[in-house]
This record gives sequence, structure tokens and C-alpha cells, in this order.
Amino acid sequence: MNINPHHTTQRQLFESEPSWCSEQTSFGVVATVVVSQGVEKPLDYIIPERLLDAVEPGRRVRVPLGRGNREVLAYCVAVSARELPQKPLKEILAVEDEHPLLTPKMLELTEWMSGRWMCRWGEVLEAVLPAGVRLGTRSRETLHVIRDNASQTPSRAPSASQARVLALANIPHTIEELTAQANVSRAVVTRLLKTKQLMTCEGSVQSASRREVRHDRPEMLSDSQQQALDTIIHSMHSGRSNTIVLFGVTGSGKTEVYLQAVEQTLSFGRQAIVLVPEISLTPQTCDRFRARFGNVAVLHSHLTAKERHSQWRQIAAGKVSVVVGARSAVFAPTPHLGLIVIDEEHESSFKQSTAPRYHARDVAAYRASAEGIPLVLGSATPSLETFSKCLSQEWIMVELPQRVAGARLPSVLTVDQRIRSDYSCGAISGRLKAAIDWALGDDGQVILLLNRRGFATHVQCRSCGYVARCPQCDVTLTHHQPGNRGICHGCGLVLRLPDVCPSCSTARLGLHGTGTQRLEEQIRSFWPGAKVARMDADTMRTRGSHERTLDAFRDGAIDILVGTQMIAKGLDFPGVRVVGVVQADAALHLADFRAAERTCQLVTQVAGRCGRGIVEGRVVVQTMSPDHPALKAAAAHNYKAFVEHELPLRKALGYPPYGALVRIVVRSVDSRAAEIWATSLADSIRQELTTLSLPAGLEASSAPRVLGPAPAPIARLRERWRWHFQVHGPDGEQLRAALARVFLRTTVPDNVAWMVDVDPVEML
Ligand code: ADP
Ligand code: ZN
Repeated sequence: MNINPHHTTQRQLFESEPSWCSEQTSFGVVATVVVSQGVEKPLDYIIPERLLDAVEPGRRVRVPLGRGNREVLAYCVAVSARELPQKPLKEILAVEDEHPLLTPKMLELTEWMSGRWMCRWGEVLEAVLPAGVRLGTRSRETLHVIRDNASQTPSRAPSASQARVLALANIPHTIEELTAQANVSRAVVTRLLKTKQLMTCEGSVQSASRREVRHDRPEMLSDSQQQALDTIIHSMHSGRSNTIVLFGVTGSGKTEVYLQAVEQTLSFGRQAIVLVPEISLTPQTCDRFRARFGNVAVLHSHLTAKERHSQWRQIAAGKVSVVVGARSAVFAPTPHLGLIVIDEEHESSFKQSTAPRYHARDVAAYRASAEGIPLVLGSATPSLETFSKCLSQEWIMVELPQRVAGARLPSVLTVDQRIRSDYSCGAISGRLKAAIDWALGDDGQVILLLNRRGFATHVQCRSCGYVARCPQCDVTLTHHQPGNRGICHGCGLVLRLPDVCPSCSTARLGLHGTGTQRLEEQIRSFWPGAKVARMDADTMRTRGSHERTLDAFRDGAIDILVGTQMIAKGLDFPGVRVVGVVQADAALHLADFRAAERTCQLVTQVAGRCGRGIVEGRVVVQTMSPDHPALKAAAAHNYKAFVEHELPLRKALGYPPYGALVRIVVRSVDSRAAEIWATSLADSIRQELTTLSLPAGLEASSAPRVLGPAPAPIARLRERWRWHFQVHGPDGEQLRAALARVFLRTTVPDNVAWMVDVDPVEML
């Protein structure tokens, strides 16, 4: 199918006048292509006559590249009939895809992304298309069937056996599964297929989880829920693209608003995309979408390339109404998109940490605006970028200040960790111990957050002060059990730790600091009768481990759940009486301007896991900085107070959201080379910034400037020395244009590598 009207006219022009083209050799039909590696610029090739019908934007083609005419795969991004340049163009060799992989709209999006995040267009194209699609991994799976929700209600009521099948077929099953589970003959299923109450689909669009979940639609929305929903629906009808931010405390019913907004979208015959920070950490949210809407595609990171390809094709064919997934689901090829929702929009996982370093929130805003549809962002702790857009009335904020159904927010107690006398049980203060005893005594459950994995955070000699470090990074080793292992959290290297100090040869190496392993051990020894589980990157390595642990927790098979920040997301368990934050300021003093924001968000989020039931919950926050505004605000359930404190600080320094920030990291095995090149690049950029014209009345602090270069906080990683600097400016577009001009005339020495991160969320 040819969707590009521009292209159609050109081809018709050519087809109607073939002689015009062959006589005038200076005219021809040219394809502009982008290669994923090597050349950054789009390249022009002439389309030979035999391929004229096949080459179109969005399909891939094979082209000769470079002096040796190496054959490479490239994305066709445009086709036009025009005068040919003096220097003859090379010819396209072959067409790879039967159909375009990308619509003109998606091509436009990827081009915009490459400018927005200063990365190669080819790189973006590769990121947008799942590997299975690019490799053409065709799925030859067993046929699945699913309920056909679009079908007319049949005149006769279904028989009992038909009803059993239909109830199961809300999610895809093989025919064998259906006959076995509903205890019916194959003929019952065949009949339902014939009467179009069931339809076939290519394999499971769901992830493996088939738990029975019921999340009934509540009879009435709360006033603030209704207001939020009305705002979204109003925006849908207006045909304008508004961004609506649901600023609602944990448990205020945001997910219910998303569900009903999606319901509206489907009633217009359109699809919805719902982004969540990480699928495996939010099984409950996914279950609720699945339970409410039949054909939901859950884009899980554990899917095989084949499964992804199959889903992608079903989505592109319009067979899926709701797509739930992490960051990359924002590229789902829905043919009639009607709504994008981003849950927990403040999460930094929405920004990709490898090139292309895009932020899914910005991509969603672009896509929503291009399609003229609403974008809904939800969080109990919106990012300051989002918050400030609402304050300036660019985006619409709807507050949901109360929990639904009368549940109350838990009371929060702060424990000052500087007063050591309060420590009775390792890392657990007397206050927290009392709270845990109270919860367990009442058959309640406990969540303990400690955002450091491993047993001890560092290994140090008590005699000479030697600290065990990674041989290839500037990172201290974390002690992990079992075995006397030292693991580098920078590069993942695992070493056996020595028994005696390599520096002074005494056997006085001590384990300092507490990680989740040690905390778990302490909990087990203080509460020997309690069932304890740990949830961190070390225990959650296998597929399905999150779901198993969360299921066990919900079923009461776990009393105390110890974990890193992965326990702070999306869990809604009524049995949780106590949440303990073991060391709230663990990340507060990192060299990152967002450290306070992150800490306030994490503590607020984890505290919100508590008191979802009828009985009130308690939160105990242990910290060395009880007076820090981030922690005071989290303890008072007053995120707004934190925002009001933090925004002026950002403004004074010209940090986001008040200015754009680009971070450049230079790496080399040779420390001098990294420093020299970082310095010279920073100097060229400084020079270029002096040429920028600035809006009148701009404060000196927000004028474009370069901070650094300096060694990065992790000064060496995987044997590469790292230098970094930051470029600030009030206008992101102007700043990126200036940088692009510098990069164009820059040549990189062979022994140096570098990366550009626009709007970084990671500063280490
Ligand atoms: P959030 O996403 O803000 O944390 P949820 O949508 O998960 O909030 O709502 C919290 C709980 O309250 C859920 O169990 C949900 O089913 C229930 N709930 C939501 N809205 C209502 C309502 N209007 N009436 C009754 N219960 C509701
Ligand atoms: Zn290392």
C-alpha cells in the first residue's frame, strides 16, 4: 500500500511519461536512504526502472556503499523525481521488505528524534523497530483464538458450554487449551469461530501470566476522578492535543481513570498505548488492563524476537486495542492511535541510557501532538519538568489529593540515624523494630526498602585503611554472599576477596555498610519466626521471579519483604501495615542535581505502599538528614512543598526545567588523551556559544555556558578514563544547533570515544 501522497504523484508522473525520463538522462527518480551504521547523513541513490514500483519510504533497500561498494541495508526515507546531480548517483540494488515497516508519520517522528537527541537517524530507526521485525523472524506458531469483541451480539444466548469457552477466550488460547479447560468438544469451539464470536489470532498477545484477576469497575468515580476523566474526554472531543497530568497521591484512583479513558478511546474505534516504568514490576497494573479489555498486548522485556514480531504485526494490523509496555512501547505501530498514558511519569527508566538516548515522555508528547490526541501523565510525584509545564499552564494538571474509598495515608515517623543509641538490631532502629513487632503481632505485613544490593557496601582494612577496589574501574567493590565475593557495580566484574589485607598483610579486613543481603540476614535472626523474602537485582534474575515473589507476598506467604527501589513501584497490597525506609539519604548526596528530587520521590512512593487496607499504616524513615526538605516533604505527604522549595534552586542555577542541559562524556584508555580532547572540545563549544544572540533581560546565571571539563564522578570505568562536561542554555533548540555546528567541524582522535546525552537523567 502506498500511503505517501507525495510519492504517488511522482510515480504517476513518471509512469505516464516514461520516454521523458529515458531521453533526459539528467532527470530520474531518486531514493533518499539512511544507513544504520557508518555514514551519518542521508544518501541519494537512483532507483532503477525495475525497482520503481517497489521502492517507497519506510521499506528497506540494499545499496552499494563507499569506495568498495560494500552492499548494505538501508532505510528508504524519501522518494522524489528530480534533476540528477553532475556526479552520477549509484543505483539501488534490491528491495528488502514486501511492505513498509514504517509509516510516513513514524519516519517523521524518527527524523525529529535524531535532531532532538543529537543521534544518528539510522540509530533511531533501529531502536524503533524490534529486532524480530528487522530480522524478519516470522512466527510459525500454533493457532490461537480469542473472543471477537467487535462481533454482533448473537440472536441466541450462548449455551453453557459455549459460555465457558467465551469466558476463557478473553485472552488468546490454543484450541486444545480451550477444549481442555472448558471441558468441551472441539466442535463447540469450531461453531463459535463459524458464528464469529471467536476469531483466530497469531499466538498469545499476552504475557504468560494467566492468573485469575478481577478488578471490577467501580460504580462511581470520586469527584476528582470524575474531573480528571472529564478533562481527558473533553480533550478527545476537542481534537486538540492536550497533555493532562494526574497529580494524585498513591491510591487516589489514577489507574481507574486511565482505564475509563481507555474505554472511551476504544469506543471511538481507536487504540491506546499505556506506558509503565517496567512490566515485571507492575504486574497488577497489567492485570487490570487485561481483565478490563480483551485484546491487550503486553510488551514484556522477556519476549522472544519471534513473539515481538508477531505482536508488532498484530498491532499494525489493528487487531489489538490496548498496548501496555515499557519505554519502547511508545513506538507501537497502532493504526488509529487515540490516547497515550504514561503511568509513574517521573521514573527515570523512561529515558533510554544507550543511544538513541530518547525520553519516552517527550516522544509521547510529539506523537500525541502529531496525531491530535490527548497524552495523560500520572504520578504521585511528578517530575519537576512536568510540574513546571503545569505551573506555566502549558499542560493541564488535575489533582487527586485523597485516597479513594476512605483509605487514609499512613503516618510517617522520622528516625535520626545520627543518634546511635537508638540502634538495637543492626541497621534497624528501636522505633522501626517496634513498628515491625506491631505489624507482625497483628498478622500484618512489612516492606523494608534499602536501595543498596549486596552484603556490605565496602571492604576496608581496619589496620591500614586499604579499601578493595575494582581493578578496571574507579569503584569500590561490594561484598556479596555466598562466598567471599567482591562485585564491581560499575562493570559487573566478580573477584574473590582476599583473607588478608594486600597492603599491610594483617587479617583485619572488615565489612562495612549494609546492603540488602545483610539486612535480610539481620531480619531473619531478629524475627526467626517470620517468613522473609528479598527482592533485588540479584534475586530477580530469572523470568517470572518478580511475579512469583509478588504473588507470594499477596497470598501472605511472605511477612517481611526486603528490597531495593524495585519494591517501591505499583504494588497495592492491603496487608501492608508497615513500611521501613532503612537509609533514606543513601542517594541524597550524589553528584547529581536531581538527587533530592529522586529521594523525595522514592520515599513518597514506598511510603504509599502502606495502609491500602482498612487498618491504618505506619511508615518509619531512618535518615542522617532528617531536616532535608526532600525528606521533610516526603514525611509530611507534601510533595508540593518540595517542588516549591526545589524549583527556585533550579532556576538560580539554570538547571532543568529552567534551561536545557547537554552532557558530554569523553573516554579513553589514556587519561591524558581524554582530558586533552575533552578540554579542546569544551573550548570550541565555549567559542561557539559566544556567537549566540540572547533574549533581552536574561539573567547572567542562565546565559549559555560550559561547566567543566572535569573527571566524571566515576572517573574510570572498564579501563577507560572518563572526563565530562555540561553545556547549559536557556533555549534547548538553539543550544543543540550550536553544538551540531561544532560537532560538524570536529574530528575525533582515534584513541578517544565520546558520547552526547541531551537532557541527561544520569550524571555519574
Ligand atoms: P492509584 O493508581 O492512584 O494508585 P488505583 O486506581 O489503583 O489508584 O486505586 C486504588 C484502589 O482503589 C484500587 O484497588 C481500585 O480498584 C480502587 N478504586 C479506584 N477507584 C475507585 C472508586 N471510584 N470507587 C471504589 N474503589 C475504587
Ligand atoms: Zn569494575
